[in-house]
Amino acid sequence: MSISSILDQLYEELKPSNCTLVAVSKTKPIDVIMEAYNHGQRDFGENKVQELANKYEKLPKDINWHMIGHLQSNKVKYIAPFVHLIHAVDSEKLLATINKEATKNNRTISCLLQIHIAQEESKFGFSPDDLDNFLNETDFSKYPNVRIVGLMGMATNTYDENQIAAEFAVLKSLSLKYSALNQKHDNIEMKVLSIGMSGDYKVALKLGSTMVRIGSTIFGARSYP
Ligand SMILES: *Cc1c(COP(=O)(O)O)cnc(C)c1O
Repeated sequence: MSISSILDQLYEELKPSNCTLVAVSKTKPIDVIMEAYNHGQRDFGENKVQELANKYEKLPKDINWHMIGHLQSNKVKYIAPFVHLIHAVDSEKLLATINKEATKNNRTISCLLQIHIAQEESKFGFSPDDLDNFLNETDFSKYPNVRIVGLMGMATNTYDENQIAAEFAVLKSLSLKYSALNQKHDNIEMKVLSIGMSGDYKVALKLGSTMVRIGSTIFGARSYP
């Protein structure tokens, strides 16, 4: 199937829930990304800073670039001038750096907090307890040039749809719980729930996803992760 017809099929599936498709283009060349762009796709996701910055240079400037991977503080400066949404903020240090680089660029940068919901070991993402501490104890007025617009998570890589649904449900309930903070802080507006990849986006849609990150279904398998 062509990229265009796969995109059309995904748009149909996402339309009822008004869910945004982030086309994950990591490892894929410019001409392939342009095929999706020419079909109307504008949101693209990358997980490496260097690759993201290179593609930003070469591709049309009306693309919304999503940084979906782990981000090191010392690399924020390379994407701060243009990044649309950073999906994987998991420390105050990173948030502070994003605020600093956003200020230098005279921008406000939107961010999602990454939450660790999977059973698999991972160094990245807040645990639900850490999230609670972070949200209740951080002085967000120190970071006027960032905007926390929601949560992001990855489910366990399993065929067990009940387990995936249970993990996504945890994230959904955290998102509801902390939307109470929207009234308390100028720069918190919990509304985005970034859940769902090629293998589990249908489950994610049922659990209230507002943003799916889909790569291999659109562009085919990658030669490296
Ligand atoms: C690669 C990646 C995706 C897309 O994965 P697919 O299985 O190819 O759809 C989504 N989210 C993150 C964080 C990724 O690194």
